Amino acid sequence: MKIAIAGAGIGGLTAAALLARDGHQVAVFDQFDTPQPVGSGLVIQPVGQAVLEEIGALNEALALGNKVNHMLGHEADSNRRVLDVWYSRDAGGRFGLAIHRASLFTAIWNAAQRQGITVHKGAVVTGAQFGMVHLKNGKTHGPFDLVIDAAGAASPLSPLVSQPLPYGAIWGTVDWPQTDLPLTQLSQCYRRADRMIGALPIGKMPDDPKQKAAVFWSLPRDDYAAWQNAGLAAWKAEAVALWPAFAPFIDQINDQSQMTMARYSHGTLRKPYGEGIVHIGDAAHRASPQLGQGANMALLDALALSRALKQATGQEALALYAKSRRLHVGIYQAMSAIFTPQYQSDSRWLPALRDRILFPASQVPPVPRLLTAIVCGSMVSPTRGL
Ligand SMILES: Cc1cc2nc3c(=O)[nH]c(=O)nc-3n(C[C@H](O)[C@H](O)[C@H](O)COP(=O)(O)OP(=O)(O)OC[C@H]3O[C@@H](n4cnc5c(N)ncnc54)[C@H](O)[C@@H]3O)c2cc1C
Repeated sequence: MKIAIAGAGIGGLTAAALLARDGHQVAVFDQFDTPQPVGSGLVIQPVGQAVLEEIGALNEALALGNKVNHMLGHEADSNRRVLDVWYSRDAGGRFGLAIHRASLFTAIWNAAQRQGITVHKGAVVTGAQFGMVHLKNGKTHGPFDLVIDAAGAASPLSPLVSQPLPYGAIWGTVDWPQTDLPLTQLSQCYRRADRMIGALPIGKMPDDPKQKAAVFWSLPRDDYAAWQNAGLAAWKAEAVALWPAFAPFIDQINDQSQMTMARYSHGTLRKPYGEGIVHIGDAAHRASPQLGQGANMALLDALALSRALKQATGQEALALYAKSRRLHVGIYQAMSAIFTPQYQSDSRWLPALRDRILFPASQVPPVPRLLTAIVCGSMVSPTRGL
């Protein structure tokens, strides 16, 4: 088939690599002038790592990223543990691959390039009808047999209207400092649910061999200007008072522009395809990054779509793709909606429930194993029937 992909992000490039490998003729359109990812670090879960392996990107991603086997969070005032989830306690067991977006992008980009895809840069997609792709510069490309919408959360092709979430976060990247925090752990500190601070060891950047950390600070979606106006010193003082171990990380922030605001939203397309068009990744479903699943979902969508196109043709293949992903996406979207307010909201009773009832219950077998399966992305088969 002749396939157009709108968006050279995580899902788009993965779909491009898989479909070009399967013999399709693939053209990718992205708004960027030079290949570039935005943002800081994220975690690729075991289900997502399997997709990276399938496109031949896993070894490069592993060489750049960092393996984490534990997520530990504590409450600032009481110093009590309120999150304690292990991937595996055994060396050689399952792990989350913490990685900077630039490093992940490099690994996926190189894998897609090896398959001989065509990339149109500086190509802002504004619409797609009857197999034609329309760009902002007035040009039209096509006809294509299929258009894949992988243009992310702001996709102009997706009919998804998502619900803005009350909290987002500011994110930055710093060098991993001298610290007692382990390099194999995502460490977080909360005050109720209105403060969340985190440090994620994400390995190296493609052009910098030093170990890095992604740092984040929860912020109500409309409070970014207030945070800027309050100044760096006030923020640093509050953060270090809440979590003294964060000091060597935040000490490296000398300018507020080192932190980027990310706002989140939640929503799922009931039918992620139409006539000659299919939506994958954030264009099909959006959630807060609380469960660390968004990039995995984009990778799994790409895999499911490529498998569906091997088993069927036309609209039947798109329906097969949607069916195979429905349960996995549905369960994770529901869990994200349940968990997010416990960690990011103005509620007083939800964090109390989290600390006094849910966390103690989460430590009683077999719940820890269930939590591990949730985090790994393997609660249910991610590509059912394919
Ligand atoms: C702060 C933050 C932390 C996160 N942490 C995690 C995590 O730990 N684990 C995890 O799995 N997920 C995480 N996520 C979610 C994850 O980043 C997204 O779910 C994932 O990137 C979605 O992939 P995608 O391919 O759908 O979209 P993207 O990766 O966003 O790619 C979209 C692409 O489309 C291009 N594009 C957009 N509009 C147009 C247009 N009109 N024309 C042409 N091109 C266009 C963009 O330039 C971009 O290249 C996090 C998200 C955020 C914001």
